[in-house]
Amino acid sequence: MASDKPQVIQKQQRDASSKLDVIIVGAGLGGLGAGISILLAGHNVHILESTAEIGEIGAGIQCLPNASRVLISWGLEGYLSQHSTAPRLCNMIGWKGNKLSDMDFHEYAEQCGTPFWDFHRANLHMGLLERAIELGATLTVKKRVDNIEYETGAHGDSTTAIAVCADGTRYKADLIVGADGINSKCREILLGHEDPPLLTGDLAYRLLLNTQDMIKDPELKSMIEDPQVNYWIGPDAHAVNYVLRGGKLFNMVLLVPDDMPAGANTLAGNVEEMRALYKDWDPRIPKLLNLCQSVAKWRLMIRPGLDPTWSHESAAFTILGDAAHATLPYLASGAGMSLEDGHVLGLCLARLTSKSTAEKKKVLEVYERCRRERTERVVSRGNRQQYLYHVHDGPEQQERDRQLKEFGAFNGK
Ligand code: FAD
Repeated sequence: MASDKPQVIQKQQRDASSKLDVIIVGAGLGGLGAGISILLAGHNVHILESTAEIGEIGAGIQCLPNASRVLISWGLEGYLSQHSTAPRLCNMIGWKGNKLSDMDFHEYAEQCGTPFWDFHRANLHMGLLERAIELGATLTVKKRVDNIEYETGAHGDSTTAIAVCADGTRYKADLIVGADGINSKCREILLGHEDPPLLTGDLAYRLLLNTQDMIKDPELKSMIEDPQVNYWIGPDAHAVNYVLRGGKLFNMVLLVPDDMPAGANTLAGNVEEMRALYKDWDPRIPKLLNLCQSVAKWRLMIRPGLDPTWSHESAAFTILGDAAHATLPYLASGAGMSLEDGHVLGLCLARLTSKSTAEKKKVLEVYERCRRERTERVVSRGNRQQYLYHVHDGPEQQERDRQLKEFGAFNGK
């Protein structure tokens, strides 16, 4: 049965007695999304970002229908549909080039009521930023939040938090939302001790090709004309690609064992080394990699969960996104989970009728209850996917491929 299209949420009006001043730490996808959702709930939002210029580093990003549902409900359909590509099929392919299964994304999107969208990250980021500003967000850059302090009101029934920045400036709010990504300082502050993300044993080479370079080769040209997402899966590695910006760019992510030195999480990669890792794969991959001039290397890390709670006991500080539950990108869902977090937090804050600590506490408990189980499941499914994609040739791989073919046949009716 097809799902309904989401309604666009209208901005709520509220008076000063229940209007929170909210500070968001980090203007990434999660922070901007939370900003939009909290503004729609009628509160004030000030975003503090540590970098001088805000923008997304990286290349492509896939938004599954759950994420596009949230984005559409924030009034972003017009802007984002202009900047996205909606791939027709998602193909699973063995590393030597044998197709195992496919899934009709258009048909599935029809059932979901919202599309699969592939973006250049800069476009998604800009759409979120412009919408947040349009709704009334203020943004201050070059503000690295280093600590959070708390103040209790004269009658003890309301708590505020203060974001203390590395340059000594202080910003007071009724609620601070830490959306500062996988290497989160906010998470550390909440826990009261260091808590580095966990290594996964994998890294990602991320690269963009100009499709003008591909069209001279008929085989590569066909990969642009009919946009599809391809997953090649093989021993200890896999590769993903999809088209961006209406066919102008071709995004590739190559996932291989982590050989990065301790301490470095992103580095310039060596193109020759990357090509050598895929030289025996489906000939389309070496052909594509021959067109690549430069590549970046990202260590992949996770945060399986956060105990005992995502929020401070004062109910004036909480966290979301990768800071709470960073996942391997193997289900293309990390940003989607960050956007959903912000959406749910905003919906909970829409119900607030006073600024009392007791009410904020209730809101944050409901927010966490709605989000914890789902996000932890995505992290553990991402780990499972790592295992399944990277199985070595043999009986286990044959069984995996058999099941994928069965799924493809079922999916194709
Ligand atoms: P971030 O995007 O990391 O944003 C954090 C922000 O906080 C940054 O702007 C940072 O500068 C700022 N900041 C950090 N510290 C401070 C501080 N102390 N004070 C102030 N500001 C601070 N997800 C998908 O849904 N689909 C995909 O296809 C997909 N592909 C991926 C491919 C790869 C290779 C990788 C690595 C990830 C992928 N993801 C994908 C995951 C996705 O990128 C993340 O889950 C998402 O960006 C997390 O958003 P966030 O806002 O929580 O954190």
